[in-house]
Amino acid sequence: MTNTDTRLNAIRGSAEPKKHNARTIAALTSNPGCARRSVLDAASIDKQALAEHIGYPAAFGMSSFAIARGNAFEAQVKANGCAELLRLLRKHLDLPLPEVSYDDLNSVAGHETLEARYRRSRQLLAHAARSDQDAGTLFDHPLLRMNIGGREVYLEPDLVAFRLRDRFHVVEIKSFPVIDRRADSHKVGAAAIQSAVYVLAMRQLLEQLGVDPALVSHEVFLVCPEDFSNRPTAALIDVRKQLTVVRRQLARLADVGTLVATLPVGLTLDLLRDEEGEATRSVDELCAALDQIEARYAPECLDTCEMAYFCRAGARGHTAALGRSVQENLGGIDTVAAAIGLATDALAPDEHEREAAHVLRMAEHLRRECLGGAA
Ligand code: SF4
Repeated sequence: MTNTDTRLNAIRGSAEPKKHNARTIAALTSNPGCARRSVLDAASIDKQALAEHIGYPAAFGMSSFAIARGNAFEAQVKANGCAELLRLLRKHLDLPLPEVSYDDLNSVAGHETLEARYRRSRQLLAHAARSDQDAGTLFDHPLLRMNIGGREVYLEPDLVAFRLRDRFHVVEIKSFPVIDRRADSHKVGAAAIQSAVYVLAMRQLLEQLGVDPALVSHEVFLVCPEDFSNRPTAALIDVRKQLTVVRRQLARLADVGTLVATLPVGLTLDLLRDEEGEATRSVDELCAALDQIEARYAPECLDTCEMAYFCRAGARGHTAALGRSVQENLGGIDTVAAAIGLATDALAPDEHEREAAHVLRMAEHLRRECLGGAA
């Protein structure tokens, strides 16, 4: 065990390490500059439990209704050996798929342990990759594995299809709708990042097997309900850009040792649960410990990180809390108080603040005019 591992384990304390999944790995890419998130994730801390204990519970994650709807849609797409999915691949994507076989990897001969499922998935994917037969195969919920910050994490794509244009393709089934051939770009972006995580995990697996990783395509199939019905539709998405982002962030996570080395020795976020499982650690102590790890809050955190409400409270009064575009427009002006001071001439700008001060004064002038007009 390295010194970094020892420090990360001490930061997590007595709690079990929280497992990652494609969604949490994808979320790592949303705020790569945040040291607090990097340390908490590398230490596999249960951020949800931590945020709840310090009084900032995250209103985060899918509702039970959305989960049920997603499961029902996925079951519909996969019914009868994925008949509906095959129809889509043939019709919308013009794929020559006369016959396909279907492997259900949700369990292995009644065994549902992760290790058994991973071994079987690895065996079947290796066989498919080395086979020269021209038959298509669909692998339902194969289990993949990836090293995240020094720990092995299991990942489970919805489907992997093989020999579509002679490549493995990840198939991602989502329940958000495509209306008039358009979908919510934010949701498509999140699905693309998640799919990129699966592509990367598949490529790592083929590399370990001595098979060319390029067999896994950077084009993934996104399947969603069409218009206001439950009828599925499919589109091909290129995730090359997302692959670069995920790779960069994972490398950064692996380099968390540099971040940890700057933290005070003995720093811990242990909730100190008692025998009943109740957290006993003082909230003030925990908040003080968290404040020692630099955060970079942005409004986007509200969609992607369980610590968002705590970090937002800490960022109050800072221009970062108003969003990246505001922060960029204000250049190096870090606080709202300084921005107001410059806008009202209460503060004299230094050399670097002149341009931003000019824009702020214009904005203040316009605001006064508008308010005066309204009066
Ligand atoms: S919510 Fe906090 S810890 Fe999470 S990414 Fe944003 S600033 Fe970092």
